[in-house]
Amino acid sequence: MTTLDDILNAPHPASDWILAQDCAETGLHPDDIRAEMLRRICEMRASIERGLSSDARSITGMVGWNAKGLWDAPDALGAPLLRRVQAYAMAVNEENARMGRIVAAPTAGSAGTIPGALIGVADHLGIPDERLVSPMILAAGIGKAISKRMFISGAAGGCQAEIGSSAAMAAAAIVELMGGTPRAAVHAASMALMNTIGLVCDPVGGYVEVPCVSRNAFYAVHAVSAAQLALAQLESFIPPDEVLGAMASVGRMMPAALRETADGGLAQTPTGLAVTARMEGRKEGEGPGGMIELPLA
Ligand code: SF4
Repeated sequence: MTTLDDILNAPHPASDWILAQDCAETGLHPDDIRAEMLRRICEMRASIERGLSSDARSITGMVGWNAKGLWDAPDALGAPLLRRVQAYAMAVNEENARMGRIVAAPTAGSAGTIPGALIGVADHLGIPDERLVSPMILAAGIGKAISKRMFISGAAGGCQAEIGSSAAMAAAAIVELMGGTPRAAVHAASMALMNTIGLVCDPVGGYVEVPCVSRNAFYAVHAVSAAQLALAQLESFIPPDEVLGAMASVGRMMPAALRETADGGLAQTPTGLAVTARMEGRKEGEGPGGMIELPLA
């Protein structure tokens, strides 16, 4: 079983070591794995482009215009990387909410974090998609190491498991993209994880929309922050595999109400309950007609 520590001690670049492990496990040729990874990066990019150009609402009416709204708005803070990362992440998750095609990475709910962070940074710096293949292979290796030790779904371990995993994968990928060492990449992942511990999964109405769309924007930025710290040689005080153990432990302690059941947190606010009632009402008799009116837009 590959651990984060194994990746940390792998030769540079860690993606080559992970690719060799994958080839040995699956019998696939490295060129085929690389080609498939590039295809997925292209799918991620396509979902970003669709999401940035659409303001069509999801079936619940809760989301759908946020990515385009941010992308079209003036850069109020003079922070183009921040705005790009946030808009890309929300674009993918709004596509998901509209039932569009996305790459689950590692889940559909967290599908915007890696494209937002990694493709956002790459576009900001003018780096072509072909150079994202190796960082994505490292991200996959980090995700696999996490999944062996911890949960990666909100239903199993809360949003910390879902978004925490995607942010960790993205953080490590950015470090490799920028030429950082395997040690720095794994410490970026670890810092992303340790600063996500405790995040609950409380989707309003049980739909992967609120807080999920904006959460991907926030945690894509979180991944960039972790990568920035690691590239400056900052490290996770708690060793990476111990962080994973702590996160798994918190996940096991988390009540079912905070694990995607919509029985707690934001889902149980008056607005959250109103959404649930309206959606249930429509399912029972109103048909798929007009958009639900919500005080959220
Ligand atoms: S709140 Fe739950 S459904 Fe939404 S992104 Fe987080 S884990 Fe996924």
